[in-house]
Amino acid sequence: MTTQAPNAAVSLPATLEEAVAALAATPTAVPVAGGTDLMAAVNAGLLRPAALVGLGRVAEIRGWQYLDGHALLGAGLTHARMGRPDFAALIPALAAAARAAGPPHIRNAGTLGGNIATAAATGDALPVLAALEATVLLASAGGARREVPVSHLLTGMDPLRGGELISHVRVPLLHAPQVFLKATGRTGPGRAVASLALVLDPARRAVRCAVGAIAPMPLRPLEAEAWVSALVDWDGDRSLAPEALAAFGEYVAAACVPEQPAGEDGVVPPLTPAVQHLRRTVAALARRALGRALA
Ligand SMILES: Cc1cc2nc3c(=O)[nH]c(=O)nc-3n(C[C@H](O)[C@H](O)[C@H](O)COP(=O)(O)OP(=O)(O)OC[C@H]3O[C@@H](n4cnc5c(N)ncnc54)[C@H](O)[C@@H]3O)c2cc1C
Repeated sequence: MTTQAPNAAVSLPATLEEAVAALAATPTAVPVAGGTDLMAAVNAGLLRPAALVGLGRVAEIRGWQYLDGHALLGAGLTHARMGRPDFAALIPALAAAARAAGPPHIRNAGTLGGNIATAAATGDALPVLAALEATVLLASAGGARREVPVSHLLTGMDPLRGGELISHVRVPLLHAPQVFLKATGRTGPGRAVASLALVLDPARRAVRCAVGAIAPMPLRPLEAEAWVSALVDWDGDRSLAPEALAAFGEYVAAACVPEQPAGEDGVVPPLTPAVQHLRRTVAALARRALGRALA
């Protein structure tokens, strides 16, 4: 079905195949899901799409299913839907991120796929997907499909191509504690100043962690992950001493908020107060997240 808006032709396909066909037929068309990011850009005069392909009627991307130890999440899942208890039982960190993603009217409309495609530093789902090592399924016209790690998409190593839609996100079901924490500059809903997702993967005896909002894409402190994974007694009591939790926090913060390189005189400049504050924030998020996951 196609309707004519004042400035842009809007098509409202009912299936994924129709949606990618509409994009292929009109290369200047832009997909729109909840519109929370897209319409903000239009209203700010940053974007003037010639045509829109609305994804709201594409039922096959609005739910989720289980597949080989993974959950296949539709890109059209809203934050409100992911925040509900049944979803939280499945992927607790993603549910926690969804509950933190803006005020209720934004969470009712905003989607997982939109969060990924926008790829804002402050996208709350993104550190969770990075820590889970999720992959993204991409669809284009003629039945073409490909799957890329979410980190490759977010770093631009393997970006979304013209005419492609995010159809699903494949997330491993780890059946172990996961935590998402977010620091904002004010009380109540707000964009993250720093966020952190931490997941336990007992089958691989691994702690994985990603820090959001402090760089253009989520950061993985891989050495800190490996260090703490080796400390955990995976077959016994998983708890760690407060000193180890604090050391992990400092390790993550130092990795993600590095010192400035030394000047020509070989002296490393002192951290500015803002950087010191960010380091303390990231350290506190990492320490608390690990403590909660291992409690
Ligand atoms: C007031 C306000 C507060 C907010 N607070 C937060 C917050 O706290 N945390 C947070 O993470 N986000 C926040 N957001 C941002 C936004 O709500 C999320 O990023 C949301 O997930 C975007 O989803 P959407 O469906 O609305 O995307 P849309 O606005 O519909 O689309 C965004 C972009 O993604 C593309 N796109 C959408 N779906 C697909 C798809 N399936 N395949 C390919 N491309 C696609 C669109 O073409 C567009 O470029 C906030 C936004 C507002 C306006």
